[in-house]
Amino acid sequence: MSDTALVADEQRLIDRVQAPDGQGRDVPDAATREVIGRAPLHTVADLDDAVARAKAAQPAWEALGHEERSAILLRAADAIEENAEALARLLSREQGKPLNGPNARFELGACAAWLRTNATTPLEAQTIVDDESGRASLFYKAAGVVGAIGPWNWPLMIGIWQIGPSLRMGNTVVVKPSEYTPLSVLAMVAVMNEVLPADVLIAVSGDREAGARLASHPDIAKVMFTGSTATGRKIIESSAGNLARLTLELGGNDAGIVLPGADAQAIAQDLFWGAFINTGQTCAALKRLYVHESIHDEVVAALAAVVEQTPIGNGLDEQNVLGPLQNRAQFDIVKRLVDDAVAAGGRVVTGGAPAPELGELFFQPTLVVDVADGVALVDEEQFGPALPIIRYSDVEEAIASANGLDAGLGASVWGDRAQALEVAPRLQAGTVWINQHGGLHPLVPFGGVKASGYGLEFGVEGLKAVGVPQVISG
Ligand code: NAD
Repeated sequence: MSDTALVADEQRLIDRVQAPDGQGRDVPDAATREVIGRAPLHTVADLDDAVARAKAAQPAWEALGHEERSAILLRAADAIEENAEALARLLSREQGKPLNGPNARFELGACAAWLRTNATTPLEAQTIVDDESGRASLFYKAAGVVGAIGPWNWPLMIGIWQIGPSLRMGNTVVVKPSEYTPLSVLAMVAVMNEVLPADVLIAVSGDREAGARLASHPDIAKVMFTGSTATGRKIIESSAGNLARLTLELGGNDAGIVLPGADAQAIAQDLFWGAFINTGQTCAALKRLYVHESIHDEVVAALAAVVEQTPIGNGLDEQNVLGPLQNRAQFDIVKRLVDDAVAAGGRVVTGGAPAPELGELFFQPTLVVDVADGVALVDEEQFGPALPIIRYSDVEEAIASANGLDAGLGASVWGDRAQALEVAPRLQAGTVWINQHGGLHPLVPFGGVKASGYGLEFGVEGLKAVGVPQVISG
């Protein structure tokens, strides 16, 4: 398809979902800051109406049964795929991630793949007891209406992680995208609604107030939330009111440990993408790297070589694989943390400053060495393209550092596999990767511990998590 046709397709998607002229809130292109469209500003009353409609639609959707729902969800995945390029362009502009690399097109591919797996993963009743004492089986039924509240970093993929399993289990869903990335989520939902029955999936584009109302609404049975730990805590409080079940995927500060003897050249590329995927704006990205002193300089040099040859710029340029920060607040966090690390004695190996020649929200991909635990760039979630590298001399020390923060989404160990397998179970994280960081699979459960949240997504565990258990005994 020609570029002009693609632009027209993208504009058609925007026009389907944006607010009428003169209404709504302007949504900027993350790279150029030009206005892309106008996000509708749904109110709390609109949200109440959406929940009422989703509640009314739920029994008939559940009554269709798994097979029929699966068939419809597979058609929804096809619809996403048919619109993938236009959605990827919109996502690229609104979120900032480039089309290429593990970014916008990749995200659309993941949406279709996850939805198909959600649709086709078998969920069998479990016979718990079947003997002379009696019979008991465990089933999972729909919970009711699911409230899905998402972040701005992987808005479509995380949206599908919340929507796909919920619909498959017979729930209806009201989704509230992040106020930073509403248009791409509204557009994807519109595409899915070409094949879904009415009111089974409703998107409400509101702000934090709408999110708070969705989480606390008396008719919401389950909240799927991905976002910051601070907001997660508020949702836990509001669940005291409606007793909604919660899956909370919260912030992370994933540590990577490079063991003595690791091959710096062999791991450099994967270390890079582990840390810089989506320009560092990824929950389970490598956010602090502990490297043994015997190979520290080699690893730093190999990683710097990858950073320096990686093209960054406007996401619609096919050559780029890194983009801007999505918003000013996040840009300011990254700048503050890098400046603070330098003031604390850290040495910038590469990058270290904004890149205004590329645009207002671009920051050079940055490596900082000679920092230690206690420096804010290490201790706080930077959520951007700046990786602190910490030298260690004893693996025990690195394990203690990795476990020393109140975050536990992911972690990784790099080097000899047998040695890594000894370290992995000692790390306090929901997932520990070996010689990779951040790889996900739609059948492999994913979730955090400590302040990174609770509950599992993906696979059979993810289906159960959006259902309610029922035991039939006798
Ligand atoms: P955020 O918490 O500011 O916002 C997330 C969503 O919550 C938005 O839709 C927002 O409108 C809504 N919201 C805000 N206040 C609310 C309230 N009181 N009640 C209900 N909803 C409310 O997070 P963010 O800045 O969009 O996302 C970045 C954070 O998300 C990072 O910390 C990152 O690590 C985390 N994250 C985690 C995962 C994961 O899977 N664990 C994935 C992506 C992002």
